[in-house]
Amino acid sequence: MITIDTFQHEAVTAYKFGYSPFGKPKLNVHLYYIDGLLIDTGQSRASKEVLRHVGELDVREIFITHHHEDHSGNLNRLQAYFNCSAYASETCCELMKKPPRISFVQNIFWGNRPPSHQLIPCAESISTDKYTFQIIPIPGHAVDMVALYEPNKKWLFSADLYVHHYINYFIKNESVIQQIHSIRKILELDFEVMFCAHSPQLTGGKKLLEKKLVFFENFYAQVSELYEKNYTAQQIFKQLNFKENRSIKFFSQGHLSKMNMVEAVIRDNQYSSFR
Ligand SMILES: [Zn+2]
Repeated sequence: MITIDTFQHEAVTAYKFGYSPFGKPKLNVHLYYIDGLLIDTGQSRASKEVLRHVGELDVREIFITHHHEDHSGNLNRLQAYFNCSAYASETCCELMKKPPRISFVQNIFWGNRPPSHQLIPCAESISTDKYTFQIIPIPGHAVDMVALYEPNKKWLFSADLYVHHYINYFIKNESVIQQIHSIRKILELDFEVMFCAHSPQLTGGKKLLEKKLVFFENFYAQVSELYEKNYTAQQIFKQLNFKENRSIKFFSQGHLSKMNMVEAVIRDNQYSSFR
C-alpha cells in the first residue's frame, strides 16, 4: 500500500510518500519542491507514485541531503526524467558511487537505490531564481548529511536531523556526539519552519530540536559515565534498563537497534580519547 499526501507552505510544496507491503505505511518520507529545486527523491518502492506526482513539476535541479535509500531511491530515475543536474555534499557524491548495502527490512519498506556517478559536489550554497540555500554539514545520523537553510525565508530543510525528539534505535554507524554538535550548530540559526524529511514542523520546530538535544546529551552522559567505569556495552544496556524493540532488531538483522546507540556512544568516547 502506498500513501501520498501533499501540503503547501509559502513557496514550498511538500510530497509525502509512504510504502508498506502490508497495511497502512508507518514510515514516510517527504520530498520538497521550491522554485525549480527538488530536495531529495524518496524511496524506490514508491517510484511510480513519485514520478506520477513529482513528474508534473518544473524540476530544474535536484539536491540530495544524504545517501540513505529513502532520500536517494529515485535519484537516477528523476534525473533522467527531468534531464537536470543533481547535487549533494562531496561525501554523499562519493558514497553514492557505491552505496552501502541496506538490510532486508530497509529493502522491504524503502527499496534499494542504484549507484549514481552523476552527482555534482556542492559545498557552499545552491540557488534557484528566487532563493539561495546555504548548505550546512550536519553529520551524525549519516556522515554525508547536510541541511539547506534559506535565511531570508527562515526555512530549514533539516533532512534527518530531527525526525523525533527522542530516538529508540540507530543504524550501525551513527554517532551521538556528532549529532549533538550538529543540533547545536543548527540551533544557532534563525529559522522558523523546519522541513524535516519525516516529520515537518511548520511551527515550534526549534523547541522540538532543543528537546532532542537534551535527550541526546542525557543519553550520552549516562552511557559515558558507565563506560568510564569500565562497563561493557551489554552491562550498560542492562544497568540503564534499556529495552530493545525485538521485531525491529530482528527484521533489520541487527542493522537497527538500541544497542547500536550504546555502541555509538562508546565509539564516540574511544575516538575522543585518541585525539
Ligand atoms: Zn537518513
